[in-house]
Amino acid sequence: MTAAALRPPALDKLLASGAMPALIEHHGRAPVVAVARAVLDDWRAQAPPPAFDAAAFEAACRSRLEAAAQASLRPVFNLTGTVLHTNLGRAVMAPEAIEAVVAVMRGAANLEFDLTCGGRGDRDDHLEGLLRELTGAEAATAVNNNAAAVLLVLAALADRKEVPVSRGELVEIGGAFRIPDIMRRAGARLVEVGTTNRTHLRDFEAAIGSRTALVMKVHTSNYAIQGFTASVPVAELAALCRSRGLPFVEDLGSGTLVDLTRWGLPAEPTPQQSLAAGAHIVTFSGDKLLGGPQAGLIVGDRALVQRIRKHPLKRSLRLDKMTIAALEATLRLYRDPDRLAARLPTLRLLTRSQVELTAQAERLAPVFEQFLGGRVQVQVLHCRSQIGSGSLPVERLPSACIALGAPSGARRAGRLPERLAEALRALPIPVIGRIEDGQVRLDVRCLDGAAAEEAFVAQLSGLAGVRL
Ligand SMILES: *Cc1c(COP(=O)(O)O)cnc(C)c1O
Repeated sequence: MTAAALRPPALDKLLASGAMPALIEHHGRAPVVAVARAVLDDWRAQAPPPAFDAAAFEAACRSRLEAAAQASLRPVFNLTGTVLHTNLGRAVMAPEAIEAVVAVMRGAANLEFDLTCGGRGDRDDHLEGLLRELTGAEAATAVNNNAAAVLLVLAALADRKEVPVSRGELVEIGGAFRIPDIMRRAGARLVEVGTTNRTHLRDFEAAIGSRTALVMKVHTSNYAIQGFTASVPVAELAALCRSRGLPFVEDLGSGTLVDLTRWGLPAEPTPQQSLAAGAHIVTFSGDKLLGGPQAGLIVGDRALVQRIRKHPLKRSLRLDKMTIAALEATLRLYRDPDRLAARLPTLRLLTRSQVELTAQAERLAPVFEQFLGGRVQVQVLHCRSQIGSGSLPVERLPSACIALGAPSGARRAGRLPERLAEALRALPIPVIGRIEDGQVRLDVRCLDGAAAEEAFVAQLSGLAGVRL
């Protein structure tokens, strides 16, 4: 063979031959040229370069182009058993919310336009009426998330002043949200009150002084302090604040708008209870138990909400039209609590019964058996789901999972669970489970509806060929 036969043809020639024109048609010329150059560079970098193989070149270009065309943010199956999983995007939207978002994405919308008088409107107007109606608050506003809500409230109401908070409530929420840090960033001075396990009203009385801006209570969303404990009830703190002429602010974290015990779920404090007990401002998330898009809601006293809304940070933290559309549609569902569990995916997922979930897992197990049988032991087990996102941290919901482990003959699972989890993540719609006791466990709670189950099953044949 001559040296020339080992080398690839000129790039132009390569791009005009074989499957390359079809790739150009599909992906566009510029990306194909860039990928072809990169593949050729890699070929040249080998020492010595092997004989050029046109079929291998095309295959390399195709796979790189397909990998690059894959969206980075894409749907996955959340079978972790955590319904509101922050890393997996928290709440799943109701169809009403999805339709509302799509409608405002397609064209112009009256985001800040008053259709009655034909003049300028306020984007808060789309949410304020509903929030007032549902929480009983005088006024309401909304920002990008609850962390932003807390930051904005403190910046607007406590700049360079003191804010007493119980030592038992200096929470860290996943990521970098820590109450002491947020306080500092907002320009407020944290005054720690009481002890980790016990804080009394007299501790707050002693902490309040001429430099106090407001008193804050933070919902201990993601942990529980048990044993010899005491905290000051909202009503007592609110009464103290009222007598001293100070605002009382509560960060509720999740803050559902309905009494969850109605569906047999554990009780979670609501903004309406907080306000009724005398809180002046309450903040909560849009995408935790509320079941809407990522947002932070601020409800309460009219004059205080007005100050919060006027703060310059509000402009940086404000919601876009898509979020407002999804939030408004989600809030509307709360007007009809009787049908909420059927219409709001978060509540529907949380209320699925163990009987239903076990039946579903038993329906799916044979499909896993079909594609993994012999290499993997497939079982249906009872397990416990979590609500997630710091909601009701110690409560667990009875659920069912498909457990995939080493075949009963094998002494140890070895790397099998990790390999299996990797293969599940590599499916067209990645499947995310959890590894426990040497098994991959797929909690079926969030695999809701016939269409989702069908799409899930349809791709499982992809497991047939994987090496474990
Ligand atoms: C979750 C939570 C936050 C942060 O809310 P995001 O909407 O995630 O920004 C703040 N405070 C408490 C008490 C929380 O539980």
